[in-house]
Amino acid sequence: MKKNMLHILCIASLVFYISFVSPLSEMLETPARLPIIGGSMYDSTFLWGLDNFIHPFDSMKYGRVERCLKKYFSQRGIEPQFHIPVEVTYEQLALVHDPAYIELINTDKTAISRIVEIYLLRFLPRFLIDIILLKPMRRATGGTVQAARLAVRHGWAFNLGGGYHHAKERELEEGGYCIYADIPLAVKTLWREEDSQLKVMIVDLDAHQGNGHEAILGGDPRISIFDMYNCRTYPMDEAAKRCITFDVPIEPGTSDDIYIPLLKRKLKAALDTLEVQGRKPDLIIYNAGTDILAGDPEGELGVSAEGIIQRDAIVFAEAKERKIRILYLFSGGYTKGSWFNRKSGSAYVIGKSLKNVLTNIIGIGAPGVVDVPTFF
Ligand SMILES: [Zn+2]
Repeated sequence: MKKNMLHILCIASLVFYISFVSPLSEMLETPARLPIIGGSMYDSTFLWGLDNFIHPFDSMKYGRVERCLKKYFSQRGIEPQFHIPVEVTYEQLALVHDPAYIELINTDKTAISRIVEIYLLRFLPRFLIDIILLKPMRRATGGTVQAARLAVRHGWAFNLGGGYHHAKERELEEGGYCIYADIPLAVKTLWREEDSQLKVMIVDLDAHQGNGHEAILGGDPRISIFDMYNCRTYPMDEAAKRCITFDVPIEPGTSDDIYIPLLKRKLKAALDTLEVQGRKPDLIIYNAGTDILAGDPEGELGVSAEGIIQRDAIVFAEAKERKIRILYLFSGGYTKGSWFNRKSGSAYVIGKSLKNVLTNIIGIGAPGVVDVPTFF
């Protein structure tokens, strides 16, 4: 009897491990699971959120957006099952990063504190830095890779985090808040696993120039990069700028009346050009930083919440119209507002915008109409 109980316990533990812990859970997914990944698993949860005081922004915004979208799907009668992000391994990271860089991140607390500009980190024990910062980032990096596969399969996918567009192969990008180069890693993984000739366009609308993916992927004929950014702020990386295919620098303070028509015109022209050249992308990776929001202390632009909703709709509508797969990533967004006042920060804006994209571009049905379409 005791032996039987032991067997049952072992089997139950194994089922729990496979379902919730092991990366094998990805292989057991049902087709009904939505092409959305991550959220709360990227939050920096430490001492019940007290670490929000040492982070420069709302470090729990990922979970806030996840809960917002789950509520949206529930209201429509759709069981909101999102994919579970699996932490990226060091072997995977070696596809894009120099081993010496990985070693530095794993051993040098000062290097990490310089990248994320949280100087307090150098006084914390290494294991704590891993728990509150590096682990969530490795999960989000794994999430970008998994979401890229989902976008190829379903036509669209959201990773509720990621978009570390300053991280380079071996150089430390001080002040960039980006450690792992998730976009190049996702692209190189797709080239290796799906199609070595897959054409990828990175549409980077974060307030800052995406110098990391530009330095790593720029110049490859399978890549095109559209970058619209504040040209008077970090990183002003001239070498990386030469790798941008469609360069759209804008001035600090740029507001909706200039931003929206300019984006519409330039993005359409870029996609038309690629089609004429026979380089139409198979996949758009949309780096949708919300640090263009007016009042963001890092972005220094003047786009409104409504402007961000319009911006995201423009990009998704272009992808849908041209039948191009699209992957959405959070990237920057540094307003503390989403912590102190949930209706003024980036989490609130992202949630509202993604609901708009799901309803009006992707075409999720009205409440009671259970339908999750793909773009194709
Ligand atoms: Zn940014």
